[in-house]
Amino acid sequence: MDLIRLRNVDKKYKNGVTAIYDLNLAIEKGSFVFVIGSSGSGKSTLIKMLYREEKPTKGQVIVGGLDVAKLKNKKVYKLRRKLGIVFQDYRLLPKLTVYENVAFALECIGEKKDTIRTKVLKALEDVGLKNKVHEYPGNLSGGEQQRVAIARAIVNDPKLLLCDEPTGNLDPEKSMEIMKVLESINKSRGTTIIMATHDKEIVNKMKKQVITLKDGHLVKFKQKGTYVE
Ligand code: ADP
Repeated sequence: MDLIRLRNVDKKYKNGVTAIYDLNLAIEKGSFVFVIGSSGSGKSTLIKMLYREEKPTKGQVIVGGLDVAKLKNKKVYKLRRKLGIVFQDYRLLPKLTVYENVAFALECIGEKKDTIRTKVLKALEDVGLKNKVHEYPGNLSGGEQQRVAIARAIVNDPKLLLCDEPTGNLDPEKSMEIMKVLESINKSRGTTIIMATHDKEIVNKMKKQVITLKDGHLVKFKQKGTYVE
């Protein structure tokens, strides 16, 4: 079953730049998909349209059965509950501990304390950081901070995990650690993962599906792909 469908999607920004042209995509539930292409090719714009940070100018974006562009602002939470997001720069709250960072969103939706504890510890276990629950982000390495950000994104077991250049600030060794974590989340939780990157080494090693964008056009959608320019 498809978790994501894009039909004839154009995205033109207000300054007149068209970032995406006539994009058609179907992504199956449980997939692990890389979105690749050089800087400015439209990777972030595609990711942003999936969580309604940007709306398409034309066409349809369906995520988990929701018509994203048509969602009223007050219904956007319905989409956001279906997904987690990881950014290049981690975006952790520096004054909260690892545990509190991961628990924060669950507290906001009024989840019970016991449930929060179970979910947070499971998420931290899944990213291999159960021994750092009481640390503050400032005392962690970049790779560890990114693993906290991943734990935060998956804590409520979303169907979809969006990652925009998650290894962009990390060295090759730490980047591969992050990829192993993402791969295990994809396998054990069945979470669909879409990851924008321009890290060729990672894409070639992981052998996942690859969507290649060039100047806003889809040039290739390959199963078990490698990075080709
Ligand atoms: P990538 O993630 O592959 O680097 P982006 O999606 O960020 O590509 O950008 C695609 C194109 O859209 C680029 O030409 C970029 O300058 C433009 N763009 C991105 N965001 C905006 C914005 N908010 N306003 C105007 N143009 C933008």
